[in-house]
Amino acid sequence: MASPTATPAASHVPSATAAPAAERIVPRTDKLVMIDPGHQRVGNNEPELVGPDTRETKAKVSSGTVGVRTKKPEYVLNLEVSMLLKAELLKRGIPVTMTRETHDVDISNKQRADMANDEGAALVVRIHADGDSSASTKGFSVLYPSPSQGATKPIAAESRQAAGLLLAGLQQSTGTKGRGLSARDDLSGFNWSKVPVALVEIGFMTNPEEDELMSDAAYQQKLASGIADGIEQFLNGK
Ligand SMILES: [Zn+2]
Repeated sequence: MASPTATPAASHVPSATAAPAAERIVPRTDKLVMIDPGHQRVGNNEPELVGPDTRETKAKVSSGTVGVRTKKPEYVLNLEVSMLLKAELLKRGIPVTMTRETHDVDISNKQRADMANDEGAALVVRIHADGDSSASTKGFSVLYPSPSQGATKPIAAESRQAAGLLLAGLQQSTGTKGRGLSARDDLSGFNWSKVPVALVEIGFMTNPEEDELMSDAAYQQKLASGIADGIEQFLNGK
C-alpha cells in the first residue's frame, strides 16, 4: 500500500499485525491523510469484531442510507464529496491516499482501519451521511473515538482535536452550526485504528432539503473546503 515515493521515517515503525492493540503508530510519511469514503455498492454482512477488546461483532460493512428525495445511495454521495476533498488537499500540497475510489470494492471497516495503520497515516477522515427516522433531523456532525475505549486511548486526544477542527472548518465554510461533536465507542473503523481518526457525517439524507443540498455542486465544494481547512489546521499543529 505504501507509495513508492514515500520517505521512511528514521524511527522504527512496528508492523500493524505485530503491534499490540493499544498503540499509537508513528506516522511513516509526513502529513499523509487517508480519506475513507464510507460504504460500498454491495454491503458485506459477514460478522467482524467491533474492536480488539470485545467479543461483540458487527457487519463488515453495511450498505448505508439513501437519499429520500435524490434516491442517491449514501456510498455514491460519500465518494463524490471524498473526491472533491482529495482534490482540495492535493491543491494544498497535502499527500492523500484513499481506501476506495470506486464503488465495486469489498473492504470491511476493520480493513479500512488496517489500511491507514499500514500507511502510517497522520490522520484518517471518514466521510459518511446520516439517516434518521424523523425527516426533520438535519445538520452535519463529527464523530471521534471515545476516550473511555481502551483500544483507542492512544489516539483519543489527537482524534478529538482533529474532530473539533473539522467541525469548525465546516461551520465556517457552510455558515451553519451543525450538530456538534460525538464520542463513539461502537465503531469498528475507530476501534481498530492506531492513527488519529474522525468521521464526518455531512448531513441527513432522510431530510429532503438537506438530501438535495448535499448533491448540489457548490455545497459539496463548501463541505470539501471546510473539511480541508480543518485537516490543514490539524496537520500544521503537529
Ligand atoms: Zn454511513
